[in-house]
Amino acid sequence: MSDWTNIVDDLIDHVNLLKELGGRNVELDLAVLSALGSTAAAPLPPGPPAGEAAALSPEERRKALSEIAARADLCEACPLRPTRAKSVPGQGKPDSPDVMFIGETPEEGDDQQGLAFAGAAGAFLTKMIQAMGYTRDDVFVANICKCRPPGNRAPLPEELRTCLPFLREQIRIVRPKVIVLLGPAAITGLLDAQAGASRRLGQWTKYDGIPVMPTFHPSYILRFEAFGDVKGLKAAKTQLWDALKLVLAQLGRAVPGAPAKQ
Ligand code: SF4
Repeated sequence: MSDWTNIVDDLIDHVNLLKELGGRNVELDLAVLSALGSTAAAPLPPGPPAGEAAALSPEERRKALSEIAARADLCEACPLRPTRAKSVPGQGKPDSPDVMFIGETPEEGDDQQGLAFAGAAGAFLTKMIQAMGYTRDDVFVANICKCRPPGNRAPLPEELRTCLPFLREQIRIVRPKVIVLLGPAAITGLLDAQAGASRRLGQWTKYDGIPVMPTFHPSYILRFEAFGDVKGLKAAKTQLWDALKLVLAQLGRAVPGAPAKQ
């Protein structure tokens, strides 16, 4: 990575941090900064044939995922265990869904129900999934951390690292055709932790041979709504939808509602 892209990455991450801390007068345009620091996105070729997981039947995959969920439920490997209500392993289509969405940590509603993306962010994620022409049952959703941090705080890097093996196992079993990473913690957690998350937004990369599209977390979009930032909301939604359209193109699916090509 060049010094220039490093500088742009740091600047973008700093602007994001200011916004997350409630700064409302940040005049820099994140879309412009992202364009400065990155090259144009292009669909990747499909990943290689799945390995041993491809030989598993849907029932065997369900069983393997249940075993992972049971281990996560008993896990006491990090300080998040005592304060969570329920473990949230993730759920959805177990056998090579088109898309696996991966976030950071469970929300409050997720923690109560033991289901990933069951709260407000989950409702927005459902809208994203439906806009792509799928239902929640067609995809798999999960987080890197299987337990909710207390007081809605961000997970510590060590907590993310400790929990990551559960997600890696899930990916190996589910073997999705495309992974969509939601938010900076998911991006840096699953991918190279040294690379700036913002530079990766909307840019194809790969994890274990699977095409990966990093984009915004639904909570990030909802924050613009909460602040009444109409301009920021529109820009973020446009950037998010552009990423999801790249995913549909990668999967060879038409954008729902778009006129058919002649
Ligand atoms: S967050 Fe992950 S590593 Fe920490 S206790 Fe829960 S399951 Fe274990």
